[in-house]
Amino acid sequence: MTETPFTPISEVGEFGLIDRLDALIGKTHNKRVLLGIGDDAAVVEGPSGSSQLITTDALIEGVHFDRTFTPLEMLGFKAIAANVSDIAAMNGQALYAVVALGLPNNMSVEMVEALYRGMTRACDAYGVALVGGDTTAARVTVLSVTVIGEAREGEVCFRSGARPGDVLCVTGDLGAAYAGLKVLQEQKRLLDAGGDDFDPAVLQEFAHCVQRHLMPQARVDVVREWGLRRIVPSALIDVSDGLASEIHHLCNRSQCGARIASEAIPLDDQTLAVARLFGDDPTSYALYGGEDYQLLFTVSEDQLSLLDDQALVVLGTISEARDGVMIDLPGGDTEPLVRQGFEHF
Ligand code: ADP
Ligand code: MG
Repeated sequence: MTETPFTPISEVGEFGLIDRLDALIGKTHNKRVLLGIGDDAAVVEGPSGSSQLITTDALIEGVHFDRTFTPLEMLGFKAIAANVSDIAAMNGQALYAVVALGLPNNMSVEMVEALYRGMTRACDAYGVALVGGDTTAARVTVLSVTVIGEAREGEVCFRSGARPGDVLCVTGDLGAAYAGLKVLQEQKRLLDAGGDDFDPAVLQEFAHCVQRHLMPQARVDVVREWGLRRIVPSALIDVSDGLASEIHHLCNRSQCGARIASEAIPLDDQTLAVARLFGDDPTSYALYGGEDYQLLFTVSEDQLSLLDDQALVVLGTISEARDGVMIDLPGGDTEPLVRQGFEHF
């Protein structure tokens, strides 16, 4: 008898697994599907002159959040914002959300209501209608959100549109979410250790970082601004897994390379202070931390001059695939950008 193979998921990793599933699912015969797996959202033919965008993202207790220091209202907000961010990452506008809830028996009605106050707040902020969902018992809290959005036909931005010579930009500071998580985890540790050194003032001192981790914003403001200026980036992705991973995704899909300057990566003063406190390299928070939900995009030099330079930071340029994905280090050396992000397995 042949044994059924048992390949640990950690052996192929999250993206290796998705590739295998993609191959297994195969091509659809549904002609209205314009793009399935492989970008921030799927793209299907919408009502005349529009493309419909579909995305889903789950937040799982113990994986994405620690119940001991996560206010439920903020968690609800984040669940919606993370999905709206994926729609923004297609240059689209989010419209509708459905929510599947998994609830352990240590959640009360009031707690679920707090979650929903946060989700409703995010829906109001982003112009999304929460139109349904599903509720089941679960071992840990699970918040699985699906959002549908739309973009004008021809204005959808894919990860795959970058071309050599394009400029690679990001919409704001990175690494803050990871810094905030470190601060929260450290205060939890101090509290667990007896509480003598627990200092809630630190949470105030690093409010930007703590806020970014607990309640990040989707950059719909940037997408709106592009629309007003009639600018369509050549490629677009949101930074959910860390800058390094997203640059690799964008370059892979675009069959390009890139060269960025480490010193160009925008870091908030608070992020720098947190990294100093922990003796870490702040750049690593930006490259490998994730959950900042900024937008990473490419534009031609010509388009760049039309953009408000207050609202973006130039990280580097897109190159030929054979040049690889490189980072210029502060000392003057250039090395390949390690492809690593948050890895689930
Ligand atoms: P993002 O970080 O933008 O949410 P992911 O890295 O989660 O994107 O997913 C990458 C792509 O793989 C997306 O197009 C997503 O729809 C697809 N994908 C992820 N997980 C699955 C799955 N279990 N089945 C089918 N497609 C998946
Ligand atoms: Mg994304």
